Amino acid sequence: METTYQLTKKQNFFQKNIESFVKQKIAPRVLETDQREGFPREILDQLAGNRLLGMLVSKDAGGEGAGFFDFCLALEGIAEVCPTSALICATQDMGARIISKEGTPDQKEAYLSKLMAGEAVFGYVLPQLDMLSLVLNDIPLSGSKEDEGFLFNDSECTIINGDAADVICLFAGNGDLANGFLIESGIQGLAVAEPKGMTGAEARCMCRAVLDNCRISKQYVLGKEGEGEKIWSELLLEGSCLTAGIALGIGQGALDYAIRYSKQREQFGLQIAKFQAVRILLAEMATKVEAVRHFVYKVAAAMDQNSRDRHKLCSMAKTFSSKMIMEVTTDAIQVCGGYGYMKDYPQQKMMRNAQLTQVINGSNQSHQLATSRWLLG
Ligand SMILES: Cc1cc2nc3c(=O)[nH]c(=O)nc-3n(C[C@H](O)[C@H](O)[C@H](O)COP(=O)(O)OP(=O)(O)OC[C@H]3O[C@@H](n4cnc5c(N)ncnc54)[C@H](O)[C@@H]3O)c2cc1C
Repeated sequence: METTYQLTKKQNFFQKNIESFVKQKIAPRVLETDQREGFPREILDQLAGNRLLGMLVSKDAGGEGAGFFDFCLALEGIAEVCPTSALICATQDMGARIISKEGTPDQKEAYLSKLMAGEAVFGYVLPQLDMLSLVLNDIPLSGSKEDEGFLFNDSECTIINGDAADVICLFAGNGDLANGFLIESGIQGLAVAEPKGMTGAEARCMCRAVLDNCRISKQYVLGKEGEGEKIWSELLLEGSCLTAGIALGIGQGALDYAIRYSKQREQFGLQIAKFQAVRILLAEMATKVEAVRHFVYKVAAAMDQNSRDRHKLCSMAKTFSSKMIMEVTTDAIQVCGGYGYMKDYPQQKMMRNAQLTQVINGSNQSHQLATSRWLLG
């Protein structure tokens, strides 16, 4: 069945709410959030206050019961102004969602409401991927199975939100079967290093970590034993859709700023918006943003409609959106000339974060190879 979408009145209203929330609560903190190293708890509090951390969790489980389309609209609106805040929101929501879908009753009881209220930070370990199939390939943590659970020795990994995370999801296996685990940051045997310096979204840090003599008992397995691969694939699929939504927001934000700037800046006695070369750049940027918007909305609708094509579409949309928006943000700097390159102007931040959307949640090349596999059978 062909996926269709149309923004409802409720969604239009929701978009306006997001716009005003971002203006009031996120925009005043943008510079600080972009430049700080360390997790911005106050951003998480603001997101929680606006009920944005349980969007993908059902109402029965205490969440908002929204779909991917709604959530992409929220991420788009936040990323227009602050891509880091949008990434933080997406990560936290994915954590709440995965626990609500896969967690045991005890895990739901312990973490779900805290994550949705912003009282606990979610983090996860990045697994290595098979480039063609996007499935877990070389599982970075090799746990040995014991009667009562799993023992990890000398296992290195990278954790997103590593130094701030209270609840950490990791995927690991010992042989053919992978498991997902939910552990707490204080677990014995887990040592998290200082965050690595990054080019963008530094506040949403990445940390190297080592698990040594770390015992993870069976009660920490996420979902059923042996279902790690299935859970990870779902997380990757959903993350691709959300990454495409964030890229869209970054592109729209960069375009809006470039338009405003081109009307204010004068050279040779004229607004630069009067120069044809600048107008052509703006027209190209706007065309790319609009094309991305249609693709992202279609894919988000495909997720909500559980379309059979959704895996392929998510990979395509993630790759296309991030690539187009990288071009848009580069042109946005060009429109703003030297000022576009300055740290106290927002365009350089948009470009740094656009590049990140090409890398995260599986590199674009890995998604392209997966797409080719679906095309060729
Ligand atoms: C700041 C930051 C935040 C991140 N956040 C997230 C996140 O939220 N979620 C998440 O899932 N991941 C996240 N990541 C990790 C990101 O998904 C990985 O960095 C990415 O998957 C690439 O893996 P890698 O860095 O090991 O590069 P490599 O695998 O070493 O790849 C390097 C280059 O080689 C290419 N390549 C590698 N193998 C092949 C192959 N077989 N065929 C063709 N080309 C190949 C890649 O496409 C890439 O261009 C984040 C990374 C960073 C830096």
